[in-house]
Amino acid sequence: MKLGTIAERLGRNRYDLGASSHIEVDQAAARATGAGRLLERVCPAGVYSVGPDGALGVLWAACLECGTCLAVAPPGVLTWHYPAGGAGVAYRQG
Ligand code: SF4
Repeated sequence: MKLGTIAERLGRNRYDLGASSHIEVDQAAARATGAGRLLERVCPAGVYSVGPDGALGVLWAACLECGTCLAVAPPGVLTWHYPAGGAGVAYRQG
């Protein structure tokens, strides 16, 4: 059985988007610490992107809830919690 590319495998997951983002960014702290580029590199789902104006974009709906960004972000940059009410990612095996 072929497993497929990472994008194909991630595409098998199901996402319940919930009502609102579970990730908030303090843009001033992100700029001051340069955290944006770090978060772009470490997130396996490509949630973060630094825009041309330096603002850190968050495509929170694609989050895999791995917690990596919260572990590596400088203090004060992110406010992160699990999606409320059972929303979020549902992994599909196989
Ligand atoms: S929890 Fe994981 S998948 Fe979600 S935004 Fe952070 S690094 Fe990306």
